[in-house]
Amino acid sequence: MEFARAPVTAVTDFPVPGMQSFRSTKRGVEDATNLEDKSATMNVLCPHCETANRVPRERLADGPSCGACKAALFDAHPVELAGPAFRRHVANSELPLIVDFWAPWCAPCRMMAPVFERAARELEPHARFAKVNTDQEQELAQSLGIRGIPTLAIFKGGKEVARTSGAMDESRFVAWARSHI
Ligand SMILES: [Zn+2]
Repeated sequence: MEFARAPVTAVTDFPVPGMQSFRSTKRGVEDATNLEDKSATMNVLCPHCETANRVPRERLADGPSCGACKAALFDAHPVELAGPAFRRHVANSELPLIVDFWAPWCAPCRMMAPVFERAARELEPHARFAKVNTDQEQELAQSLGIRGIPTLAIFKGGKEVARTSGAMDESRFVAWARSHI
């Protein structure tokens, strides 16, 4: 395993300061009146324009497109996220977010990249796959306590629910991801 060049500080608890969970922004009265509606649809952030789209759960696999930019909400590829976009996806999407924290100079990351790409094809639309370049997003990597790369992490409901480090083969990675989404 190689280590990120970003300066290392103490591991901080998730959520990152300024990050708000999707559920906490809902008022109780809306929760009560829209309960049925909310379980039938889910909030999916467009990977292209970051608009929140409400998608019926049973239509997730039917190739839904974004109401704002018309692009496909799922194109079987990981989306490259900068810090602010990453935070919006964690906070506002009800879809599990599976993230590959990587850097261009890291050889194990290059081994992991095609595995991650194939896993996206296999597991979308049940999760959103994203990549965060820790060279470009050093502050974010530091705030999440990312110390070695590649680090694979899964975020659900505004919180990190699983993390592992080091390259994996596809079957092991997909099994790990499935067990947390
Ligand atoms: Zn869009």
